[in-house]
Order: sequence, then C-alpha cells, then structure tokens
Amino acid sequence: MKAVSIASGSKGNCIFVSSNNTKILIDNGLSLKTLETKLKSIDINPAEIDAILLTHEHNDHLYGVKPFLNKYKNAKIYIPSFAQNFCLPGLIALPQKQIVWYTSSDFFIKDITISSFILPHDSNFCVGYSLLVGDKKVTVATDLGFISSQTMANLNNSDILFLESNHDEQLLRNNVKYTARLKKRILSNHGHLSNKSCGEALVHLVKTGVKQVVLAHLSQENNTAILAYNTVKKILGENGIVEGEHICVDVAFQDRVGTIFNF
Ligand SMILES: [Zn+2]
Ligand SMILES: [Zn+2]
Repeated sequence: MKAVSIASGSKGNCIFVSSNNTKILIDNGLSLKTLETKLKSIDINPAEIDAILLTHEHNDHLYGVKPFLNKYKNAKIYIPSFAQNFCLPGLIALPQKQIVWYTSSDFFIKDITISSFILPHDSNFCVGYSLLVGDKKVTVATDLGFISSQTMANLNNSDILFLESNHDEQLLRNNVKYTARLKKRILSNHGHLSNKSCGEALVHLVKTGVKQVVLAHLSQENNTAILAYNTVKKILGENGIVEGEHICVDVAFQDRVGTIFNF
C-alpha cells in the first residue's frame, strides 16, 4: 500500500491511499488545479482516482469534490447513507451515478476493504476510515472532539495512522483573535483533538501495534509542527515510549505534500 497526505489543515484536507489496483482520496478540500498539481508532483495521475471517501461536510473536506468529479467522470464519491438526510450544497447537481451512499460501515472498493466509524464532531455527520489490504491497515481520524474507547478500537493496530493533533490548548485559550464561543467549540467533545489528547491516545495505541503516526489537521493559528511533535513526544516519553524506536511520529502540513509511506 501507499499513503500520503496531500494537504492537511483548516484550509483544505486530502489524503491519498492506494493498493496495486486501487487509488483512493480521503476528502478533497482543495481546488481542482491545486489537487492536480500536487498529485502530479508525486506521479499520481488524477484520472486514475477510483473514489473519494467523504468524512464530513465541512468545506475544508468537501470544497474540491464537485469540480474533481465533474472533470473525472470515472471517480465516485462515497458518503454514509445516513448523510442523505442533510443538505450537502457542495454536491448538488452531481450525477447520481457518481455518488455512492453506502449503507454498511464496511464495504469494498476493488481490492481495498473500507471500514468507516463515527467520530464526534460539530458537523451533521462525521466518520473516520480504515483502509485494509491483506494484513495492512491505514486509518484516518481527524476532526474529532475526543477519542472514545470505541474510536480507540477502530484505530488499533494501524500500520499508518493519520491522527488529528489540532491545537495546543494554551495557545488556543490565549488566542485573542478567537471568540470565547469559538474556543469553547474547538475545545468541546465535538470540536478538535488537542496535541495532548493525541499524545495520550498514542500511549495506548502503541501497545496495539501502531508504529507510525502522522499528526494531522494542525491549526495554523494555535499550533506549530514542532510544538505538536514535541508535545506528543514528551507524553510518549513520560510513559516509557521512545519516539523513533517504539513509534515514529511524522507531521502533515497544509501547504506541502507529506512523507510518502510505502508498506
Ligand atoms: Zn476539518
Ligand atoms: Zn470539520
């Protein structure tokens, strides 16, 4: 399998995952031109994308879906069927044959098994995804207020885990540009995952076999890559876990394509 963050953060999210036969994007919050340029920069032909898995309807995940599907008619978007009850303006007037409303949390796209799971977030719906081929597993979980024991079980044993590490709580609380209401939203159980919560979850996840995490959806206002990395590394260290030995920690960026993992 191959997995790489194309872009990550509140200005647009997209993760590419492939097997030998199947190419999938998780979300597309990027303009058509930006996505095409970034995919081509790592030798991926946008016309070969089979599917986009949508996590939720926020614009940083949905913005580029319609223009992409309008150009690449062989690609389909996969959305949980319960989201049919909600208006998804970003998808209006798309041909129905390009929309798959999946009814079971587990389904297949060619040789990749997909397992979706509910995440707590302030959207009409929000899901994470595990993509499996043989004994390989990639999991994407961003835009979640907290990690329940059920969510933790979904993340277990991932070879590559893209996990939200959105903000430093202190930076967020002290940010004069944010209203009290917005801070409350982000910090709530339906907001975004802090560096600290991410690190604490990883302490448990390392024991299940997670060896590579990519810190994702970092806030550009209330976080930095170094701060997220150092906070997570410190929490792991306090629990006897050595970064680079027991688990490797990488960071996904807003403006550049991340590390390409082949495994
Ligand atoms: Zn988001
Ligand atoms: Zn969101």
